[in-house]
Amino acid sequence: SSWWSGVEMGPPDAILGVTEAFKRDTNPKKINLGVGAYRDDNGKPFVLPSVRKSCSVVPLQPVLASLNYSESVAVTDLEYDAQSDTERNDAGRIYYEENEPQIVMGSYMFEPEYEVDEQVLAEPEAEVLLIDQKLDKEYLPISGNAEFCKESIKLAIGDDNPALAEGRNVTVQGISGTGALRIGSTFLSKFFPGPKNVWLPAPTWGNHVPIFKHVNMDIQHYRYYDPKTSGFDFSGAMEDISKIPEGSLIMLHACAHNPTGVDPKAEHWDEMSKVIKARKLLPFFDMAYQGFASGDIAKDAYAVRKFLDDGHKICLSQSFSKNMGLYGERAGAFSIICHDKDEAARVMSQVKILIRPLYSNPPLHGSRIVATILTNPELRTIWEADVKGMADRIISMRDKLQANLAKEGSVRNWSHITEQIGMFCFTGMTPPQVEKLTKEFSIYLTKDGRISVAGIATTNVEYLAHAMHQVTK
Ligand code: PMP
Repeated sequence: SSWWSGVEMGPPDAILGVTEAFKRDTNPKKINLGVGAYRDDNGKPFVLPSVRKSCSVVPLQPVLASLNYSESVAVTDLEYDAQSDTERNDAGRIYYEENEPQIVMGSYMFEPEYEVDEQVLAEPEAEVLLIDQKLDKEYLPISGNAEFCKESIKLAIGDDNPALAEGRNVTVQGISGTGALRIGSTFLSKFFPGPKNVWLPAPTWGNHVPIFKHVNMDIQHYRYYDPKTSGFDFSGAMEDISKIPEGSLIMLHACAHNPTGVDPKAEHWDEMSKVIKARKLLPFFDMAYQGFASGDIAKDAYAVRKFLDDGHKICLSQSFSKNMGLYGERAGAFSIICHDKDEAARVMSQVKILIRPLYSNPPLHGSRIVATILTNPELRTIWEADVKGMADRIISMRDKLQANLAKEGSVRNWSHITEQIGMFCFTGMTPPQVEKLTKEFSIYLTKDGRISVAGIATTNVEYLAHAMHQVTK
């Protein structure tokens, strides 16, 4: 027999399986509501304007327009580099091929244009500055891109949070949110002094379970979603949390809960903070959708900041997959807010020791994009509008879906569609209804009735409402 004859076939991934089935479907009306990635109103993947401007070819256009040769010095001072026989500056490099100037920006090469756009020349050098300036591809430190880490934690807890001034945060770059959670679970399994289990909301993001099982921590659940109201089970959650053994670890979705779209209100968080404090629990916030829920970065950070104000020491995982649309770049961060600076230094040393044999150091490019956007005031303004634009489109699709269900004559209560928030809506449809939706209408979603609202568009919302009414009436 061969080495691996004993390896059994594993089950396909629940969400990726939906996409596979969608791809095979030839119905032109098919809709994929399974995938948790933002789509524009044409159903297309969306690269945020702020991201394009920070790193890609697009922002080079004004730069190129401004590079009139007699005036190229107006962009930035060029210095002749004898070694490479080029003129160069921080933004890029110019060399001559048969007397024609060529511009190299990072790994991109361009033919310059010759018209001068006076207006662009008059603008600050933002675009020039943004293009990855000295695009080497050296290793990052084990803990990642320092500027990225600093900006990430500031984004989550607020620039003026005393934990920052006091140097109490340990923040490392992770391989996006999932990788950040893995660093967290690995650290906790080794150093958490409490019981080696984790309390997760029921239901939770499917990946939370294996992330903690992999490090041999037991999984427990507290009540969270109430199927009767398709809303938050506040009293159930409070009752369960108040019985969690002292000194345990509790996982909280900072905002835009996945898969339910159900978030506690501010006053709920305030009460939860109190009971979590009273039980002496360690809160671990998973923040994968900051800005995606309300469209407002600070508003979506309410829970995290409130818990810190209340004196909790927290763990935090962050992802820039959704709010910067950087899915494939794998940009995320893991933080522990410690008691004091000395503790933070010790914790940081151990986190780095865990990361080193896992993957040595994280990827570079995504962290540069994030750091560029968060530190450049102009880009940051654009990004905040980008995030709000995505959140608003999702909110408007919720309204349209609800309105169209009413138009179809559905007498069911669909108020939860607009009460829930973030990328997902837990529709309350049963597995047989979901199956019918897929079989008869080519609409793809996970069996739990979760739809990705980001997959809905002006062009398919009527069809979706019609189909949902047909399978639920
Ligand atoms: N946590 C939750 C709750 C999520 O929904 C996701 C994305 N599906 C993640 C973490 C991590 O995503 P990523 O690894 O792409 O950043």
